[in-house]
Amino acid sequence: MKPAPFVYRRPGSLAEAVAALAGEPNAKVLAGGQSLVPLLSMRLAAPAMLVDINAIPGLDTITVEDGGASGVRVGALARHAAVLASDDVRRVQPLVTQALAHVAHATIRNRGTTVGSLVHADAAAEMPVVLTLLGGSLEVEGPAGRRTIPASELYLGPLESSLAPDEIAVSAFFPGLATGAGVAFQEIARRHGDYALVGAAALVEGESVKVGYLSVSDVPTVVDLSGVDDADLGEAALAQLEPMDDIHATAAYRAQLVRVITTRVVRSAREGM
Ligand code: FAD
Repeated sequence: MKPAPFVYRRPGSLAEAVAALAGEPNAKVLAGGQSLVPLLSMRLAAPAMLVDINAIPGLDTITVEDGGASGVRVGALARHAAVLASDDVRRVQPLVTQALAHVAHATIRNRGTTVGSLVHADAAAEMPVVLTLLGGSLEVEGPAGRRTIPASELYLGPLESSLAPDEIAVSAFFPGLATGAGVAFQEIARRHGDYALVGAAALVEGESVKVGYLSVSDVPTVVDLSGVDDADLGEAALAQLEPMDDIHATAAYRAQLVRVITTRVVRSAREGM
């Protein structure tokens, strides 16, 4: 199929892009197009206007921040491939690098943006759960100005984020890895590059053990496993989760994958400390 007709805008500045979005209530931002274009082609989305942000200068940066909170800031036009290849990202927050290696295939990573993936809010995607587990945030700009949305307030439901329709995500902030902490990412997929049947990211800091899951619930979900014996990690995680049933896997199968992957990912994070 081909997309329904739409007006196409390619503004050269953020201010123009915000104005274009504000002028059409049924408009969508176009970043890498790797999720939006298939939705248009299948007519699962039919916006009246696309606001292509690819000509806006300065949005493709990847910056290390050492101020109050140290971490890495990824601009809205930084492609997955650039973030994956960044030595700064690997050094400051290796969980981002580990998780990005599981995102799709090279051709999709060459065009798809990490911020676009965060906004798209797919509970089967890797980056939303990484941002949530790390306590990161999204910086957005709209007609009322700029605001920061903490990851804990970003995901409302399947493919639903708390961005207003007239807001553009400008960057995402991933907090850095504290000295002595460990992270790990693992997923189980039918083929490498497919969306995961179940995936998990772990953050271990001293006695604190947290694990975030993708493809288990309809939003990225983080559970606290601090103080749980290694042998009980899987069951303790399941007590805080309600694995979903869909065409890819039954809830019972997902529960079994949660048992297996939780133990593995926590062990792997501890090994990296
Ligand atoms: P787009 O497709 O341009 O936009 C997606 C949505 O986000 C749209 O609603 C758009 O309006 C909105 N949006 C994008 N950027 C902004 C912004 N700056 N401000 C406001 N709104 C914005 N992803 C995974 O995580 N894991 C996978 O395993 C995976 N496998 C894939 C396999 C295939 C075959 C394909 C086609 C895609 C796959 N993806 C996967 C999706 C890929 O990661 C996309 O790049 C990503 O989800 C969206 O990024 P994008 O830049 O392409 O966004």
